Amino acid sequence: MPDNTSDLLRRYLEQRREAGERELVLDDLKVEDVMRIVGAKNWLNAPGPTAEPVAERVPEPPPPVVADAASLAPIVVGKAGADLFGGPMASLDSLEAVAAHATACKRCALWSTATNCVPGEGSPNAQLVCVGEAPGEQEDLSGRPFVGKAGQLLTKILAAIDLKREDVFICNVLKHRPPLNRNPLPDEVTACSPYLVRQIELIRPRVILAFGTFAAQTLLETKLSIGKLRGTLHQYYGVPLIVTYHPAALLRNPAWKRPTWDDVQHARRILDRTGDGA
Ligand code: URA
Repeated sequence: MPDNTSDLLRRYLEQRREAGERELVLDDLKVEDVMRIVGAKNWLNAPGPTAEPVAERVPEPPPPVVADAASLAPIVVGKAGADLFGGPMASLDSLEAVAAHATACKRCALWSTATNCVPGEGSPNAQLVCVGEAPGEQEDLSGRPFVGKAGQLLTKILAAIDLKREDVFICNVLKHRPPLNRNPLPDEVTACSPYLVRQIELIRPRVILAFGTFAAQTLLETKLSIGKLRGTLHQYYGVPLIVTYHPAALLRNPAWKRPTWDDVQHARRILDRTGDGA
């Protein structure tokens, strides 16, 4: 492994540990293995088995199957109808302009290791915006979001609530792929999330589905786990926001399909209640 990759990985792991995390899943590689590979201190003083990394993004540590979300008060971010921010992104007045800006973006280093920018795709009039974490290998190669195995599952999830991919808008928190499919670093999320915010502001959907920990934590400006955030209807600048499991997590843990089904049905009901349903 080249030195700069080791340094990046060590920095990333140490940041996650400082943030209080005790377990991370990096593809199939255990944190202890990665720490050992890069010669860093043991995560929990307990070595684990080594496995080959896989190409598909597997973005989050395992949440509990039974969510403890029922007691969580809704998180409300921003005021309904308010401009999300008035910074440089406010001049980007179309999704194409956001995509062009993201494609040329050097606010973090990910542009230098990615093949393509993956700004997102779908209808500018989408009633539903799906937000994932970051492009994986297939997305990086094609420049399109959610086209690998997790993406195929997302397409099926949408079909199950009578939506086609082209009717919704699908995007990620990060617009460039992190090397080794590692989780996003906090400063990458800070650098990239204004593009996501501007996309949501331009589309003004009727529902946001946040898939997985990073999308949920970024939009809701919280460190709460997905297990806590699920099951409560949150608000993002007046737009109902539903947190659910990431499709890549469902591929590994079929037991989460049922709660995910409940979540997307909830999104469907909101669409049915509030407009033309698409
Ligand atoms: N996982 C994500 O979070 N986004 C993609 O686009 C693909 C996999």
